[in-house]
Amino acid sequence: MTNQKCFEEAKKYITGGVNSPVRSFKAVGGEPFFVTRGEGATLRDVEGNDYIDYVCSWGAMILGHRHPAIISAVKKALKNGTSFGTPTPLETRLAQMIAAAFPSMARMRFVSSGTEAVMSAVRVARAYTGRTKILKFDGAYHGHADYLLSQAGSGLATLGVPASHGVPENYARDTITIPFNDIKALEHAIQTHRKELACVIVEPYPANIGLLIPATGFLQKLRALTAQEKIILIFDEVISGFRLEYGGAQTLLHIQPDLTCLGKIIGGGFPAAAYGGRQKLMELVAPLGPVYQAGTLSGHPIAMIAGIATLKALQVPGFYKKIAARAEKLVSGLREEADHFSIPLTVNQAGSLFSPFFTRGPVNDAAAARRSDTAEYARLFNLLRRHGVYAPPSQFEAWFVSSAHTARDIEKTVSAVRAAFKEMS
Ligand SMILES: *Cc1c(COP(=O)(O)O)cnc(C)c1O
Repeated sequence: MTNQKCFEEAKKYITGGVNSPVRSFKAVGGEPFFVTRGEGATLRDVEGNDYIDYVCSWGAMILGHRHPAIISAVKKALKNGTSFGTPTPLETRLAQMIAAAFPSMARMRFVSSGTEAVMSAVRVARAYTGRTKILKFDGAYHGHADYLLSQAGSGLATLGVPASHGVPENYARDTITIPFNDIKALEHAIQTHRKELACVIVEPYPANIGLLIPATGFLQKLRALTAQEKIILIFDEVISGFRLEYGGAQTLLHIQPDLTCLGKIIGGGFPAAAYGGRQKLMELVAPLGPVYQAGTLSGHPIAMIAGIATLKALQVPGFYKKIAARAEKLVSGLREEADHFSIPLTVNQAGSLFSPFFTRGPVNDAAAARRSDTAEYARLFNLLRRHGVYAPPSQFEAWFVSSAHTARDIEKTVSAVRAAFKEMS
């Protein structure tokens, strides 16, 4: 069995051979590998090649693959069945843990994907304010709901698509997009549209155009302006929640958004996401209120079990310090090797999350990220792959370090980077 053969077969039945566009490796050239197994920080493909994995299922696998606590919790739960379509105590248990970590989420709902969480949060914001427009930031990705696809990050940035076809113009008209970290543009947009804006949605550490770092005071200003105009502030913490810190970016920055979206990590490798906020907002949702939102597999018991086991593992003292230190080592290695080979490289890092951009930088917004030399990134990706390292298959996706990455994995990766840069320079 070869990767090529798997891809050919897949393309006969699945559009593009993949179930999410970035997986096609279209942005970096070559063809995807097909995975048979993950163990710790390593993925193995159908040809028996091993890769140190910095994609970690797009951030979901913060504990690495096949974490013993998750596997045993899931095995135990499977004995009782898989899905019931009725409430289980597990949902309450995970909700309790999330509310303790995110005090802004006094009430919440579980859904099956980040896309759904964001769609639902926006619906609540619109119902609460009676307004329609949404303000978002250039390069942010908030899932694939129609009105959030303009100037979006992730796969759209990867494939150079400014907006998706199939989105009616009047949907796009309700979405205003401004550059991240630009206080003037923010003040102007809010001043101009304050009577029409239902919400501002932001990834506090945008991680779908590569990683951007919020400038000092920017998100505080955003919180102050939205509060003043009674515009709902939605923090999309689908990546940053339980990643940057146990309580997400809002804990790190001491900012209380009105609504928060979580996903990825909280399902422990299964489909689960959540949105939530204070009681008054969330009581607008059915059955208590007039905002409809539902889901056949919402609060899926196996995903809840995996989420609970994951959060427990994240509570170990020093967890976040340790993975941040691992990432720091790798980031230092990238910077040193780039310097050594005179390759212009800017690396943005926040905890276990980072992005190397092939540009002198600084990279503080999407426009700067797009100035990165994506052909150089593609070369790095392919050379690393040859050396057994799986980097994100796009300049515009962040790298994730998990607690399963060992000091030895990091050393091996830095050696692979050295070999790659040597060939590139
Ligand atoms: C991944 C992601 C989403 C969408 O989540 P899905 O589960 O892929 O639908 C939304 N927002 C952000 C910030 C994300 O990174």
